[in-house]
Amino acid sequence: MSNLSDNKFKNQKVTADGSNRAFIEARNIKTLWFNTGTLCNIECKNCYIESSPKNDSLAYLTFEEVKSFIDEAIDKNLGTNEIGFTGGEPFMNKDIMKMIDYSLRKRLKVLVLSNAMKPMLNRTKELIKLNHSNLTIRVSIDHYEKEKHEEIRGKNTYDVMMQGLKWLNENNFNYTLATRLLWNEKEEDLRKNFGTFIKNNNLRLDTNSPKELVTFAEMDEKIDTPEITTSCWDILNKDPNDVMCSWSRMVVRKKNSKNPSVIACTLLPYADEFDLGETLTNSLQKIYLNHKHCSKFCVLGGSSCS
Ligand code: SF4
Ligand code: SF4
Repeated sequence: MSNLSDNKFKNQKVTADGSNRAFIEARNIKTLWFNTGTLCNIECKNCYIESSPKNDSLAYLTFEEVKSFIDEAIDKNLGTNEIGFTGGEPFMNKDIMKMIDYSLRKRLKVLVLSNAMKPMLNRTKELIKLNHSNLTIRVSIDHYEKEKHEEIRGKNTYDVMMQGLKWLNENNFNYTLATRLLWNEKEEDLRKNFGTFIKNNNLRLDTNSPKELVTFAEMDEKIDTPEITTSCWDILNKDPNDVMCSWSRMVVRKKNSKNPSVIACTLLPYADEFDLGETLTNSLQKIYLNHKHCSKFCVLGGSSCS
């Protein structure tokens, strides 16, 4: 028996039932992400980018490479006002401080995603010199309880993360938290319990704010999801201009590639179809939503076609 779902997400422009696949047309790159490299000091369960102390499938970007993309964004007026650094663990990249410094000097907002562990704590002297109202560090914490956090991140990961978080707080950095929704805990309760965690640790953060406590649903590629057609935007009352790849890009350097490439978004670093070439300017092209993540995370979210 032929299963329609086996034929989904195969043809770039047409869905399994022959409809026109939905697409996004980017107009600007408000947020420019850099994946500084996939190596990480820890190995979390279900890390979406499969980072670990051994995975170097995305190699370290250099300062010169990052600088050239920032310069391109500015020179070509691509609308960039924020630079994001993700990994792996960005503080393991030897050039990260120069990258942050350059971005801040260009008057851009800077967001660094970190696990706030040893790689960050080893660089506190340099980091403190860069503290700026435009710099925010987003710390990953998989649960406010040590036991659950370590179930995902491994033994001895909680206390050192707390040391990093408290250091950021004591030294007046802007910081936010990111957590995962995988504990069968209602989001409302999770936010409330994180609020208690913040208070008990003398931290400052509004856990009711989705910007200050960012929550992520788990990404399970095995779960079936509908394909998005050009008619879905109206049916779902959704604006394509709200989808991440209409206003951001991520630069990566694939292992063994001579030059960095520009990827449509942070969610699909390994999918060749979403590799948009070597310049930001050329990356402003049509993106067909030909991946499960496009449907599940970016378009449907909590909504449904029916
Ligand atoms: S700390 Fe972040 S990048 Fe590193 S393994 Fe965990 S989820 Fe992945
Ligand atoms: S997953 Fe698909 S729709 Fe979502 S931002 Fe990436 S390319 Fe765009």
